[in-house]
Amino acid sequence: MKIIIATHNMKKRAELERILSPLGIEIVTDNDIGCTLRDVEENGTTFEENAFIKAQAGCEDSGLPCIADDSGLFVDALGGAPGIFSARYCGVHGNDEANNDKLLKELENVPDEERTARFVCAVCCVFPDGRKLTVTDSCEGTIFHERHGNGGFGYDVLFNCNGQPFGEISAEEKDKVSHRGKALRHLAEELKNYI
Ligand code: IMP
Repeated sequence: MKIIIATHNMKKRAELERILSPLGIEIVTDNDIGCTLRDVEENGTTFEENAFIKAQAGCEDSGLPCIADDSGLFVDALGGAPGIFSARYCGVHGNDEANNDKLLKELENVPDEERTARFVCAVCCVFPDGRKLTVTDSCEGTIFHERHGNGGFGYDVLFNCNGQPFGEISAEEKDKVSHRGKALRHLAEELKNYI
């Protein structure tokens, strides 16, 4: 079975291939099959809605089953912020440095025991016959007082997952415990039943 992914992020593609190819699923992007997936506005109020919006558009545009994901960070001391605004917490989309600066500032006087947080990831697969599968998973941790390491992306340098700093561990180690790795393995299980 061929499934298109609604992303050009090659790290996400590699992760999906590692997890789904053992099921006989071939992962392609729009470039691979010579079509263009339209850019959709992610105006949902949950990660699940945004993943569905992207997967549905990708399925319509390509005629193939389409997988899309949406994710972010929830910090308890900030009432769940940045949440669905994770990519644009500082006001500009995708500025990781400024997002991390803002997070550290907001948590300046928050003690260790109150710095609990979790990454959440929703993954949705929409099929041409209209059916859909949606799974959500999370990864618990705490927010450091300063940056640790320089690996990963987004808030990784501030996230401590039970003694595994996401900015310092390898991509493979992160896959094993991360919200996205867990959600994709969960999706693989659902797809196994579905196919
Ligand atoms: P997206 O779902 O990949 O677009 O992620 C939205 C935003 O959430 C990113 O821009 C990051 O700020 C944050 N985020 C999601 N997943 C991760 C992660 O695994 N590490 C660090 N930041 C993440």
